[in-house]
Amino acid sequence: MSIEVQNLTKIYGSQIALDEVSFSIGPSEIVGFLGPNGAGKSTTMKILSGYVNETSGSAHILGMDVSTDGLKIKKRVGYLPELNPLYGDMFVKEYLGFIADIYKIKDSRTAINKVIDSTGLGSECHKKISQLSKGYKQRVGLAQALINDPDVLILDEPTSGLDPNQMKEIRNLILSLGEDKTILLSSHIMQEIEAMCSRVIIINKGKVIADDTLDAVKKNWGNKQNSIHVRFRDAIDLSILSSISAIKSIDSIDEKTFIVYSEPHVDLAELLFKFAVTSDTIIVEQREQEKSLESIFQKLTDYD
Ligand code: ADP
Repeated sequence: MSIEVQNLTKIYGSQIALDEVSFSIGPSEIVGFLGPNGAGKSTTMKILSGYVNETSGSAHILGMDVSTDGLKIKKRVGYLPELNPLYGDMFVKEYLGFIADIYKIKDSRTAINKVIDSTGLGSECHKKISQLSKGYKQRVGLAQALINDPDVLILDEPTSGLDPNQMKEIRNLILSLGEDKTILLSSHIMQEIEAMCSRVIIINKGKVIADDTLDAVKKNWGNKQNSIHVRFRDAIDLSILSSISAIKSIDSIDEKTFIVYSEPHVDLAELLFKFAVTSDTIIVEQREQEKSLESIFQKLTDYD
Protein backbone atom coordinates (compact mmCIF):
# COMPACT_ATOMS: atom_id res chain seq x y z
CA MET A 1 0.00 0.00 0.00
CA SER A 2 1.17 3.54 -0.71
CA ILE A 3 -0.82 5.06 2.14
CA GLU A 4 -2.21 3.14 5.11
CA VAL A 5 -4.10 4.95 7.84
CA GLN A 6 -5.46 3.09 10.86
CA ASN A 7 -7.70 4.49 13.58
CA LEU A 8 -6.04 7.86 13.21
CA THR A 9 -7.23 10.26 15.89
CA LYS A 10 -6.21 13.86 16.46
CA ILE A 11 -7.42 15.96 19.34
CA TYR A 12 -6.58 19.67 19.57
CA GLY A 13 -7.38 20.71 23.15
CA SER A 14 -11.02 19.72 23.45
CA GLN A 15 -11.58 19.61 19.67
CA ILE A 16 -11.67 16.12 18.12
CA ALA A 17 -10.40 16.83 14.61
CA LEU A 18 -10.03 13.16 13.59
CA ASP A 19 -11.92 10.30 15.14
CA GLU A 20 -10.55 6.83 14.32
CA VAL A 21 -10.01 7.47 10.63
CA SER A 22 -8.92 4.43 8.59
CA PHE A 23 -8.29 4.00 4.87
CA SER A 24 -5.67 2.65 2.51
CA ILE A 25 -4.57 3.73 -0.93
CA GLY A 26 -2.73 1.59 -3.47
CA PRO A 27 0.02 2.61 -5.91
CA SER A 28 -0.88 5.05 -8.71
CA GLU A 29 -4.37 5.74 -7.42
CA ILE A 30 -5.73 9.28 -7.53
CA VAL A 31 -8.04 9.47 -4.55
CA GLY A 32 -10.27 12.40 -3.73
CA PHE A 33 -10.54 13.39 -0.10
CA LEU A 34 -13.83 15.17 0.14
CA GLY A 35 -15.50 16.91 3.03
CA PRO A 36 -16.95 20.22 4.16
CA ASN A 37 -14.78 22.80 5.88
CA GLY A 38 -13.57 21.64 9.27
CA ALA A 39 -14.10 17.95 8.42
CA GLY A 40 -10.48 17.01 9.15
CA LYS A 41 -8.96 16.86 5.67
CA SER A 42 -6.02 19.19 6.31
CA THR A 43 -5.29 17.58 9.66
CA THR A 44 -5.08 14.14 8.01
CA MET A 45 -2.80 15.49 5.30
CA LYS A 46 -0.56 17.30 7.76
CA ILE A 47 -0.14 14.09 9.75
CA LEU A 48 0.65 12.14 6.57
CA SER A 49 3.24 14.74 5.58
CA GLY A 50 4.84 14.71 9.01
CA TYR A 51 3.92 18.30 9.96
CA VAL A 52 1.57 17.40 12.80
CA ASN A 53 1.64 14.43 15.20
CA GLU A 54 -1.34 12.17 15.65
CA THR A 55 -2.91 11.74 19.09
CA SER A 56 -3.43 8.01 18.53
CA GLY A 57 -3.69 5.49 15.73
CA SER A 58 -1.12 5.09 12.98
CA ALA A 59 -0.27 6.21 9.47
CA HIS A 60 2.20 4.60 7.10
CA ILE A 61 3.44 5.81 3.75
CA LEU A 62 5.24 3.31 1.52
CA GLY A 63 5.52 1.11 4.59
CA MET A 64 7.17 3.81 6.71
CA ASP A 65 5.62 5.07 9.94
CA VAL A 66 4.94 8.81 9.81
CA SER A 67 5.62 9.26 13.50
CA THR A 68 9.08 7.64 13.47
CA ASP A 69 10.30 7.79 9.85
CA GLY A 70 9.39 11.44 9.17
CA LEU A 71 12.65 12.37 7.44
CA LYS A 72 12.70 9.32 5.19
CA ILE A 73 9.08 9.94 4.28
CA LYS A 74 9.70 13.57 3.35
CA LYS A 75 12.13 12.31 0.69
CA ARG A 76 9.42 10.22 -0.99
CA VAL A 77 6.39 12.43 -0.49
CA GLY A 78 5.44 15.74 -2.08
CA TYR A 79 3.11 17.97 -0.10
CA LEU A 80 1.16 21.00 -1.22
CA PRO A 81 -0.28 22.65 1.88
CA GLU A 82 -3.62 24.40 1.74
CA LEU A 83 -2.10 27.79 2.33
CA ASN A 84 0.86 27.43 0.05
CA PRO A 85 3.58 29.45 1.80
CA LEU A 86 5.60 30.94 -1.02
CA TYR A 87 8.30 33.54 -0.65
CA GLY A 88 7.02 36.41 -2.77
CA ASP A 89 10.34 38.19 -2.97
CA MET A 90 12.13 35.19 -4.43
CA PHE A 91 12.38 34.48 -8.12
CA VAL A 92 10.75 31.21 -9.18
CA LYS A 93 14.05 29.49 -9.98
CA GLU A 94 15.66 30.85 -6.84
CA TYR A 95 12.81 29.51 -4.70
CA LEU A 96 12.94 26.08 -6.32
CA GLY A 97 16.71 26.07 -5.78
CA PHE A 98 16.09 26.84 -2.11
CA ILE A 99 13.68 23.89 -1.83
CA ALA A 100 16.10 21.62 -3.73
CA ASP A 101 18.80 22.54 -1.21
CA ILE A 102 16.49 21.62 1.68
CA TYR A 103 16.05 18.20 0.07
CA LYS A 104 19.82 18.06 -0.54
CA ILE A 105 19.18 17.20 -4.18
CA LYS A 106 22.54 16.58 -5.88
CA ASP A 107 21.81 17.65 -9.44
CA SER A 108 19.46 20.45 -8.45
CA ARG A 109 19.70 22.21 -11.83
CA THR A 110 18.28 19.21 -13.67
CA ALA A 111 15.62 18.69 -10.99
CA ILE A 112 14.53 22.35 -11.18
CA ASN A 113 14.34 22.35 -14.97
CA LYS A 114 12.37 19.12 -14.89
CA VAL A 115 9.68 20.48 -12.54
CA ILE A 116 9.54 23.81 -14.37
CA ASP A 117 8.87 21.82 -17.51
CA SER A 118 6.30 19.42 -16.01
CA THR A 119 4.32 22.20 -14.31
CA GLY A 120 4.39 24.47 -17.36
CA LEU A 121 6.25 27.25 -15.56
CA GLY A 122 8.70 27.91 -18.40
CA SER A 123 7.33 31.28 -19.48
CA GLU A 124 7.11 32.62 -15.92
CA CYS A 125 10.18 31.15 -14.29
CA HIS A 126 12.25 34.33 -14.46
CA LYS A 127 9.66 36.35 -12.51
CA LYS A 128 9.38 37.02 -8.83
CA ILE A 129 6.74 34.84 -7.15
CA SER A 130 4.80 37.94 -6.03
CA GLN A 131 4.42 38.93 -9.69
CA LEU A 132 2.72 35.68 -10.68
CA SER A 133 -1.01 35.06 -11.11
CA LYS A 134 -2.70 32.76 -8.59
CA GLY A 135 -2.68 29.87 -11.08
CA TYR A 136 1.06 30.21 -11.64
CA LYS A 137 1.70 30.56 -7.90
CA GLN A 138 -0.13 27.26 -7.50
CA ARG A 139 2.10 25.75 -10.17
CA VAL A 140 5.12 26.89 -8.17
CA GLY A 141 3.56 25.14 -5.16
CA LEU A 142 3.18 21.98 -7.20
CA ALA A 143 6.72 22.34 -8.56
CA GLN A 144 8.13 22.47 -5.01
CA ALA A 145 6.05 19.39 -4.11
CA LEU A 146 7.52 17.56 -7.12
CA ILE A 147 11.15 18.59 -6.84
CA ASN A 148 12.23 15.40 -5.09
CA ASP A 149 10.36 13.29 -7.68
CA PRO A 150 8.08 11.82 -4.99
CA ASP A 151 6.15 8.57 -5.32
CA VAL A 152 3.27 9.95 -3.27
CA LEU A 153 1.70 13.39 -3.64
CA ILE A 154 -0.51 14.95 -0.98
CA LEU A 155 -2.34 17.97 -2.32
CA ASP A 156 -4.50 20.04 0.00
CA GLU A 157 -7.15 21.94 -1.98
CA PRO A 158 -4.85 22.29 -5.01
CA THR A 159 -7.23 24.42 -7.07
CA SER A 160 -8.83 26.56 -4.39
CA GLY A 161 -9.07 30.22 -5.32
CA LEU A 162 -8.34 29.62 -9.01
CA ASP A 163 -10.54 30.78 -11.87
CA PRO A 164 -12.18 28.09 -14.06
CA ASN A 165 -9.43 28.16 -16.72
CA GLN A 166 -6.67 27.92 -14.16
CA MET A 167 -8.57 25.12 -12.41
CA LYS A 168 -8.75 23.16 -15.63
CA GLU A 169 -5.04 23.57 -16.25
CA ILE A 170 -4.09 22.44 -12.74
CA ARG A 171 -6.52 19.49 -12.98
CA ASN A 172 -4.94 18.36 -16.25
CA LEU A 173 -1.53 18.68 -14.69
CA ILE A 174 -2.57 16.56 -11.70
CA LEU A 175 -4.12 13.95 -14.00
CA SER A 176 -0.86 13.64 -15.91
CA LEU A 177 1.13 13.39 -12.67
CA GLY A 178 -1.22 10.63 -11.53
CA GLU A 179 -0.02 8.35 -14.30
CA ASP A 180 2.93 7.24 -12.21
CA LYS A 181 2.29 8.65 -8.72
CA THR A 182 -0.13 7.96 -5.90
CA ILE A 183 -2.13 11.11 -5.25
CA LEU A 184 -4.37 12.02 -2.34
CA LEU A 185 -6.06 15.34 -3.03
CA SER A 186 -8.53 17.17 -0.90
CA SER A 187 -11.38 19.35 -1.96
CA HIS A 188 -14.73 20.55 -0.77
CA ILE A 189 -15.86 20.82 -4.40
CA MET A 190 -17.54 17.74 -5.79
CA GLN A 191 -17.02 18.48 -9.49
CA GLU A 192 -13.34 18.74 -8.82
CA ILE A 193 -13.17 15.23 -7.41
CA GLU A 194 -15.34 13.94 -10.25
CA ALA A 195 -12.98 15.47 -12.80
CA MET A 196 -9.83 13.87 -11.42
CA CYS A 197 -10.49 10.86 -9.23
CA SER A 198 -12.01 7.44 -9.66
CA ARG A 199 -12.23 6.87 -5.93
CA VAL A 200 -13.41 9.12 -3.17
CA ILE A 201 -13.09 9.13 0.61
CA ILE A 202 -15.73 11.34 2.18
CA ILE A 203 -15.02 12.66 5.66
CA ASN A 204 -17.31 14.60 7.94
CA LYS A 205 -16.71 15.76 11.50
CA GLY A 206 -13.52 13.75 11.72
CA LYS A 207 -15.07 10.45 10.60
CA VAL A 208 -14.93 8.61 7.27
CA ILE A 209 -18.50 8.27 6.07
CA ALA A 210 -17.89 6.81 2.60
CA ASP A 211 -14.90 5.21 0.87
CA ASP A 212 -15.54 3.76 -2.55
CA THR A 213 -15.33 4.27 -6.28
CA LEU A 214 -17.23 7.31 -7.52
CA ASP A 215 -19.64 5.03 -9.36
CA ALA A 216 -20.35 2.96 -6.25
CA VAL A 217 -20.82 6.03 -4.07
CA LYS A 218 -23.32 7.36 -6.59
CA LYS A 219 -25.09 4.01 -6.83
CA ASN A 220 -25.21 3.19 -3.14
CA TRP A 221 -26.04 6.60 -1.83
CA GLY A 222 -27.85 8.09 -4.76
CA ASN A 223 -30.97 5.96 -4.42
CA LYS A 224 -31.73 7.62 -1.11
CA GLN A 225 -33.07 10.45 -3.20
CA ASN A 226 -36.00 10.31 -5.58
CA SER A 227 -36.02 12.54 -8.62
CA ILE A 228 -37.36 12.45 -12.13
CA HIS A 229 -36.64 14.53 -15.19
CA VAL A 230 -40.00 15.06 -16.89
CA ARG A 231 -41.23 16.92 -19.99
CA PHE A 232 -44.93 17.57 -20.55
CA ARG A 233 -46.54 18.26 -23.93
CA ASP A 234 -47.91 21.60 -22.71
CA ALA A 235 -46.74 24.43 -20.51
CA ILE A 236 -47.42 23.66 -16.86
CA ASP A 237 -48.67 25.90 -14.10
CA LEU A 238 -45.78 25.48 -11.68
CA SER A 239 -47.84 26.61 -8.68
CA ILE A 240 -50.21 23.64 -9.18
CA LEU A 241 -47.38 21.13 -9.60
CA SER A 242 -45.53 22.44 -6.55
CA SER A 243 -48.69 22.37 -4.43
CA ILE A 244 -48.65 18.54 -4.48
CA SER A 245 -47.57 17.75 -0.94
CA ALA A 246 -45.43 14.69 -1.78
CA ILE A 247 -43.23 16.83 -4.01
CA LYS A 248 -40.29 18.27 -2.10
CA SER A 249 -38.88 20.62 -4.71
CA ILE A 250 -38.85 21.35 -8.42
CA ASP A 251 -36.14 22.68 -10.74
CA SER A 252 -37.67 24.30 -13.82
CA ILE A 253 -35.72 23.82 -17.03
CA ASP A 254 -38.36 25.49 -19.18
CA GLU A 255 -42.15 25.89 -18.94
CA LYS A 256 -42.69 22.26 -19.96
CA THR A 257 -39.61 20.57 -18.51
CA PHE A 258 -38.77 20.00 -14.86
CA ILE A 259 -36.70 17.97 -12.44
CA VAL A 260 -39.07 16.93 -9.67
CA TYR A 261 -37.86 15.72 -6.26
CA SER A 262 -39.75 13.76 -3.63
CA GLU A 263 -39.13 11.60 -0.55
CA PRO A 264 -37.73 8.12 -1.42
CA HIS A 265 -40.93 6.17 -0.68
CA VAL A 266 -43.05 8.19 -3.13
CA ASP A 267 -43.95 6.67 -6.52
CA LEU A 268 -43.02 9.79 -8.40
CA ALA A 269 -43.76 8.37 -11.84
CA GLU A 270 -47.34 7.55 -10.86
CA LEU A 271 -47.78 10.92 -9.22
CA LEU A 272 -46.64 12.76 -12.33
CA PHE A 273 -48.86 10.60 -14.54
CA LYS A 274 -51.92 11.50 -12.44
CA PHE A 275 -50.92 15.14 -12.50
CA ALA A 276 -50.66 15.04 -16.32
CA VAL A 277 -54.13 13.49 -16.60
CA THR A 278 -55.78 16.06 -14.32
CA SER A 279 -53.91 18.88 -16.07
CA ASP A 280 -55.18 17.67 -19.44
CA THR A 281 -51.71 17.08 -20.85
CA ILE A 282 -49.40 14.13 -21.45
CA ILE A 283 -45.86 13.25 -20.50
CA VAL A 284 -43.68 13.23 -23.62
CA GLU A 285 -40.42 12.35 -21.91
CA GLN A 286 -39.54 10.98 -18.50
CA ARG A 287 -36.34 9.59 -17.08
CA GLU A 288 -34.77 9.08 -13.75
CA GLN A 289 -32.50 11.96 -12.94
CA GLU A 290 -28.89 10.91 -12.52
CA LYS A 291 -27.80 11.65 -8.98
CA SER A 292 -24.99 14.11 -8.90
CA LEU A 293 -22.14 13.55 -6.53
CA GLU A 294 -22.90 17.01 -5.24
CA SER A 295 -26.39 16.10 -4.06
CA ILE A 296 -25.09 12.86 -2.54
CA PHE A 297 -22.36 14.74 -0.75
CA GLN A 298 -24.88 17.20 0.66
CA LYS A 299 -27.04 14.35 1.92
CA LEU A 300 -24.12 12.48 3.44
CA THR A 301 -22.76 15.44 5.33
CA ASP A 302 -26.06 17.01 6.31
CA TYR A 303 -26.49 15.47 9.74
CA ASP A 304 -25.56 16.21 13.29
P1 ADP B 1 -10.61 20.70 6.85
O1 ADP B 1 -9.25 20.65 6.26
O2 ADP B 1 -11.47 19.54 6.44
O3 ADP B 1 -11.29 22.02 6.62
P2 ADP B 1 -9.19 20.74 9.38
O4 ADP B 1 -8.40 19.48 9.41
O5 ADP B 1 -8.47 22.00 9.02
O6 ADP B 1 -10.46 20.55 8.44
O7 ADP B 1 -9.88 20.96 10.80
C1 ADP B 1 -10.55 19.93 11.50
C2 ADP B 1 -10.98 20.46 12.86
O8 ADP B 1 -9.83 20.68 13.67
C3 ADP B 1 -11.70 21.80 12.80
O9 ADP B 1 -12.70 21.81 13.77
C4 ADP B 1 -10.60 22.79 13.11
O10 ADP B 1 -11.14 23.96 13.69
C5 ADP B 1 -9.75 22.03 14.09
N1 ADP B 1 -8.33 22.45 14.03
C6 ADP B 1 -7.51 22.35 12.97
N2 ADP B 1 -6.29 22.80 13.28
C7 ADP B 1 -6.33 23.18 14.58
C8 ADP B 1 -5.37 23.73 15.50
N3 ADP B 1 -4.12 23.95 15.15
N4 ADP B 1 -5.81 23.98 16.75
C9 ADP B 1 -7.06 23.74 17.14
N5 ADP B 1 -8.01 23.21 16.35
C10 ADP B 1 -7.67 22.94 15.06
